[in-house]
Amino acid sequence: ATPVAVLVGTGRGAQLGVLVTGPEAIETAGRIDTLVLDKTGTVTSGRMSVHGVVLGRGVERDEVLRVAGALESGSEHPIARAIVAEAGAGVPALTGFRNHAGRGVSGEVAGREAFAGSLSFAADRGARVPEEIERAATEAASTVVIVGWSSAAGMSPTARAAILVGDTVRDDSAAAIAQLRGLGLDVVLLTGDGEGIARKVADEVGIDTVIAGVSPEGKVDEIRRLQSGGRRVAMVGDGVNDAAALATAELGIAMGGGTDAAMHASDVTLVRDSLTAAADAVRLSRRVLGIIR
Ligand code: ADP
Ligand code: MG
Repeated sequence: ATPVAVLVGTGRGAQLGVLVTGPEAIETAGRIDTLVLDKTGTVTSGRMSVHGVVLGRGVERDEVLRVAGALESGSEHPIARAIVAEAGAGVPALTGFRNHAGRGVSGEVAGREAFAGSLSFAADRGARVPEEIERAATEAASTVVIVGWSSAAGMSPTARAAILVGDTVRDDSAAAIAQLRGLGLDVVLLTGDGEGIARKVADEVGIDTVIAGVSPEGKVDEIRRLQSGGRRVAMVGDGVNDAAALATAELGIAMGGGTDAAMHASDVTLVRDSLTAAADAVRLSRRVLGIIR
């Protein structure tokens, strides 16, 4: 492409709400063949709310929300915001907070070791997971946050409840994915969330290939695996947990409403916070490269 064409493309991109870090991004966007999409906050709105709480034996909803609310007060994740809102005011103090990106949070609440996160994270914390909670977690068509705490200081935590959290698919995601597939791109859903909810969202928006339950490093590995198979990969994401994968892809695309970490790691930002802007970017870049008219 001529420098003038690229410059015009950059300006037109800005009008469409597609901000690029430099002219190379336009060139790269015109040549990708595979588009990897994060789920939460990318295909879905990321505005989550609590749908329900599945209680283990001998615990109460209020207690679960107090512990989880305390733990999540340390996190910026959309899941955390939903739980903090549901817990309301007056949660106990939290010490020793740790964020485990793409897995959950942990710390001490009222002198007991506590955690909130995915089922595999519960296992990593050495927590016993009662059967009724495990079943609820694997069957739910929502994001599931397992909440657990130890019965006394120095003991391993036990899973006590599952909080069901959900958001909704963005209004224009299905239309955008149809456009992207119409451009000949292979579209892949790549998420840290569980298989059940990942499949449900994929079906809703028309994506066949789903890779679920992956850590932030796992996302990087999947991008590399596609690249070593000869794919030219763009990735769209919004979260801190997507930053490494966005930097690894030939083209990183950040949702405008996402985290600073995602934007810093990316070559393109979608100011409109809509996947239709990703389709616009690919179409525009191909036109600049003279691939299509
Ligand atoms: P996605 O890839 O869909 O954007 P994430 O990688 O952000 O999802 O999160 C993956 C999973 O890790 C979540 O579904 C949840 O089970 C768990 N998780 C991440 N952060 C938190 C948190 N702050 N509290 C509870 N669970 C969390
Ligand atoms: Mg996300």
